[in-house]
Amino acid sequence: MAHSHSHTEPQAQLQRPGHQVLDQFPQLQELMAANEKWAGEIKAREPELLETLSKGQAPKILWIGCADSRVPESVILARNPGEVFVLRNVANQFRPDDDSANGLLEYAVGPVGVEHVIVCGHSGCGGCVVAHGLPNPKFEENDTSDTPLMRFIEPIVTLRHSLEGTCTVDKLIEENVKVGVRNVVASEAMRNSWARAGRGEGKKVWVHGWVYDIKSGRLRDLGISVGPPEHE
Ligand SMILES: [Zn+2]
Repeated sequence: MAHSHSHTEPQAQLQRPGHQVLDQFPQLQELMAANEKWAGEIKAREPELLETLSKGQAPKILWIGCADSRVPESVILARNPGEVFVLRNVANQFRPDDDSANGLLEYAVGPVGVEHVIVCGHSGCGGCVVAHGLPNPKFEENDTSDTPLMRFIEPIVTLRHSLEGTCTVDKLIEENVKVGVRNVVASEAMRNSWARAGRGEGKKVWVHGWVYDIKSGRLRDLGISVGPPEHE
């Protein structure tokens, strides 16, 4: 029995050389065109930048932020490529059990040599809004909403229920940043980094907690910065 020739399996599309899938998606063609224009402009504005970056990176900042499209760190910080090392996930979390986050921190404060780690939350954070509305996981033994997303935001749900008195979403967003800062400070990567700095090797890294307000476009420092032990 003959199959229609117009139908192509996804795998076959991937393997067919020269097949222009982009032709079907004007939205993606627009991205390619925008990239072409951007590359030309940055070359004109800073002729050495991309060439220099092709040889390596030495960013001074590690940004731990939310995946939210409205908080693009390099844009709101007005930074060029090469200036910000980044971890972004749902609700800007740094979890002790997350190898991706811990491995990235180890690399950032080690070989990469960042000097500041910034955990940044933001107004209207979807992860915190959802977590704010969920029941206490301690009392939901047979919760049917066990998905990767629900598992990932569970620490925020637990945090919400650990806070005394009325807890607004804004308050939860701030408290979640504080937890992130505490978890970074307590991490093996950070402890090792400070131990190295104490022996006069490597940088004296600081950890900070900020919140970004989407409506005003402004960042706010929560005043919870932690430096190497001799500064505490
Ligand atoms: Zn968010």
